[in-house]
Amino acid sequence: MKVEMMDDLDDTTICDSVNSLVEGCRLPVRMKGTDDWPLAELISIKESPGFRLYYVHYVDFNKRLDEWVTEDLLDTRKVHFPRRDCVINTGVSTPKRAPVGTGGQSVSRPSSPVTGELVNGSAVLAAALQKRINNNKKRKGLSLENEDSQDAPPPAQQPALPGPRQSGSMVAHHDDVITRMKNVDMIELGKHRIKPWYFAPYPQEMVGIPCIYICEYCLKYRKSRKCLERHMVKCNLKHPPGNEIYRKEHISFFEIDGRKNKNYAQNLCLLAKLFLDHKTLYYDTDPFLFYVMTVFDNRGFHIVGYFSKEKESTEDYNVACILTMPPYQRKGYGKLLIEFSYELSKFEGKTGSPEKPLSDLGLLSYRSYWAQTIMEILLSMKPVGDNEKPQITINEICESTSIKKEDVISTLQNLNLINYYKGQYIITLNKEILESHRKAMEVRLIRIDPKYLHWTPKDWGKRAKW
Ligand SMILES: [Zn+2]
Repeated sequence: MKVEMMDDLDDTTICDSVNSLVEGCRLPVRMKGTDDWPLAELISIKESPGFRLYYVHYVDFNKRLDEWVTEDLLDTRKVHFPRRDCVINTGVSTPKRAPVGTGGQSVSRPSSPVTGELVNGSAVLAAALQKRINNNKKRKGLSLENEDSQDAPPPAQQPALPGPRQSGSMVAHHDDVITRMKNVDMIELGKHRIKPWYFAPYPQEMVGIPCIYICEYCLKYRKSRKCLERHMVKCNLKHPPGNEIYRKEHISFFEIDGRKNKNYAQNLCLLAKLFLDHKTLYYDTDPFLFYVMTVFDNRGFHIVGYFSKEKESTEDYNVACILTMPPYQRKGYGKLLIEFSYELSKFEGKTGSPEKPLSDLGLLSYRSYWAQTIMEILLSMKPVGDNEKPQITINEICESTSIKKEDVISTLQNLNLINYYKGQYIITLNKEILESHRKAMEVRLIRIDPKYLHWTPKDWGKRAKW
């Protein structure tokens, strides 16, 4: 077979049959529900009786659009075959395998590395952590990426971890294929059924079933609605554990200590991983606090989103992971989470910034939050004297918003507000920017009201060990 160079897009192979397709191939694939044929990479091929399914990643799109497609959606006239001797640069290393039907095998459902444990996420988390430790850290794109919190080996009391499987073609790049593919079809959380976006290391028993049923209060997961109903009889929570530190109208925030409520924290991380690609699953939740936002109705306090925060951050991070659950997205809740995180920083008397990398959606929310917050400050300024323009320093903006200096500067630059004129930096607010700010603020109906925050920052450094 002719082997093509991946970086030479004009040099393609005519591929008459889908039978010659192998994992790592790139070809145009029709995106479901559209007439677009973007370039996609074959991540996995699955044999079913009578037909074959292909798991594809659209090269220039977010991984949450990855999907299983049938062969009629593949344009096999323009196939780029993977090079045999090197890794394709897609941000992740692509497995090299024998073609289907020539002694190689197709991946069926990705399986969790841990077996024999039903509903305890800790072993799965431990396994995920161990995998990451075993991985070459230079490889990018794996779902477990937090350099700060993941490097410690798992504590000795954790269940023994099975080694990687030593037979079959799964061995070579086991981790990549598994963690690159969505492994949960559906979750049910309270009244919502949600389709996951990314891989999450739920136990093997939980993947490959039509739906995972999750208790919306304690976040334990069950295989069937019946099992969940049995759980609900026993589960006496109607809200997240921990302290309710904020309530105004139907919005509440609960503060959960990752050490005191380890099971909850781990289940929350596992659930969040379904919707966060880059950020980590914290196996070791002890160093983190979790702030869960809920909406209240007559049935209980329903989780809307959360952010985690290191008890002590040497780099002034005030958010580690942040997520609005999909049913609540595009309703202003993401901004509310961000606003709350900065209110905590104000109470602590310091500036903060979210840990990087941010997801694509996270970055958009933050940029917009920073812009709106800084605009609010600028518009609230009063002139210092007659015919004088108001004056403010970057540090003053940081102090009143708790937004870190770099983020203030990058926001002012992105908005194109700063001009240099006669030896001075001048901020010019034109009509356009004022109008777009006014429109943006019109839709921010719910705001955090610091009067309702009942919280005192703890000095975690003074405590012996959390
Ligand atoms: Zn429960």
